[in-house]
Amino acid sequence: MLPELIDTHAHLDDEKFHDDLPEVLQRAAAAGVRRTVTVATTAPSSATCVALASQHAALVATVGIQPNHVAEAAPNDWDEVVRLVSGEKVVAVGETGLDRYWDYSPFAQQEDYFARHLELARQHDRAVVIHCREAEADVVRMLRTDYERHGPLRAVMHSITGHAATAAACLAMGLYISFAGMVTYKNAQALRDVAKTVPLDRLLVETDSPYLAPVPVRCKRNEPAYVAHTTACLAALFDVHVAALAAQTTHNARTLFGLPA
Ligand SMILES: [Zn+2]
Repeated sequence: MLPELIDTHAHLDDEKFHDDLPEVLQRAAAAGVRRTVTVATTAPSSATCVALASQHAALVATVGIQPNHVAEAAPNDWDEVVRLVSGEKVVAVGETGLDRYWDYSPFAQQEDYFARHLELARQHDRAVVIHCREAEADVVRMLRTDYERHGPLRAVMHSITGHAATAAACLAMGLYISFAGMVTYKNAQALRDVAKTVPLDRLLVETDSPYLAPVPVRCKRNEPAYVAHTTACLAALFDVHVAALAAQTTHNARTLFGLPA
């Protein structure tokens, strides 16, 4: 029997899935993927993710505005996110966080939205999906401020690309750390070294579909079924059986997002 998997981060509202989402979900099920978290990036994308989750049993949704999109957000967009957050299949707020790489949104505005997402998640008892690119010290600083005020947060650092020290700071505050296809790339030894520092009970797997598919399907459009490749890579890295790593990461994802078995 295939080990049960959960893809903790996919953008199934992306136009690249417009034509064949039912087939994509069938392939995911055939690969053992029991659940996929479809992650929002804007207010309209939040509404689409919620709608997709209501249409497909295997999907749960997040709602939020990704840091690269906060500058373009209309005045009512945040209200829409707040309206959607209490939906039955909404398991998390995000993706939120900070990004200096793309520089699409003023940094102070990104910080404002990140703080709003953290507050919204606590108000509604939802997990938080955190995006961090070239802003590790600032993300850790804001998480620490939140942690010192309110205690541990149910959250994941998604598709982490940074340093072991950042992972350690997040782990110390109770966060989960998630790895995407990049960890399978030949030139990603530094990232695999970071992965090895993460305790198995805090490790998650994701695809970040449709982007950055794992080896050996690297050049294809990424889709949830491929989370099996990233799981296999991490199992080899930790020198554990793939079924054991799948069981552990699936258990972790259920705990973080409050998913039923
Ligand atoms: Zn994402």
